[in-house]
Amino acid sequence: MKFILIGLVILQCTISIYAAHSHSFLYYAEQVVEEEESFVTAFAEEDAADLNSDLFYYYVEQWPGSSCDTKKGCCYPTTGKPATNFSIHGLWPTLLNGTWPEYCNPNTLHDESKISDLIERLQSEWPTISCPSSNGSKFWKHEWEKHGTCSILDQYAYFESTLNIKDRVNFLQVLENAGIKPDGNVYEVGAIKEAIKAGVGVSPVIECNADASKVSQLYQIYICVHPNGKDIIECPTTLKRNCNTTVEFPPF
Ligand code: AMP
Repeated sequence: MKFILIGLVILQCTISIYAAHSHSFLYYAEQVVEEEESFVTAFAEEDAADLNSDLFYYYVEQWPGSSCDTKKGCCYPTTGKPATNFSIHGLWPTLLNGTWPEYCNPNTLHDESKISDLIERLQSEWPTISCPSSNGSKFWKHEWEKHGTCSILDQYAYFESTLNIKDRVNFLQVLENAGIKPDGNVYEVGAIKEAIKAGVGVSPVIECNADASKVSQLYQIYICVHPNGKDIIECPTTLKRNCNTTVEFPPF
């Protein structure tokens, strides 16, 4: 009798654990569907609660035309001229107090063999344009070791999440929809910000640089990302980057 009772208790426990697990799996599946339906996750109260650490990321894209027409110039990668599009600069872990950690883990040095199936996407979306020409490995290694090691993502997730964000935000299209094109004309920075807010759903930070004749031009666009590396959020802190009220948008 005693053994039958013990058996029944064990059976009951097994059923409860299974039920709890299948419930949490269903809950997760519902969340994923919900997330995929909304293009942008606003920085809602739940997100604030999720930011249990002080961490978020700046996702940064740059306009290659504005790097190449500087006094310093640029070099196309060994794989050829990048597409006429914004390209990824990086995903930068930042703390809510506005500081950012760097080179956080010397034990997780860049290992390209771990991201071999992402190389093609990296070459096209995260191209190097520094001189002398190279294949991009040095740039990706720099970004992973300086910034990626301070994220809560492993090396594969760090690169894949960043590439996936690039697939979801099309800054060039969004700007072109608002009549802002890389045609060498001068545009209001306010209009650039408004176009991104309207097309992507969050307010960006705009960074400018100067061309060889010292004309201010659109250089980088920053938006903020939840520590999960997936959800685009309103930036929880302010970041000051140099820019005049109008900027040139040079061709590439
Ligand atoms: P970070 O250290 O992540 O702030 O990035 C700055 C470094 O990245 C500098 O050494 C830049 O010259 C380099 N860098 C920025 N954009 C590119 C690019 N598209 N290709 C290669 N290096 C770059």
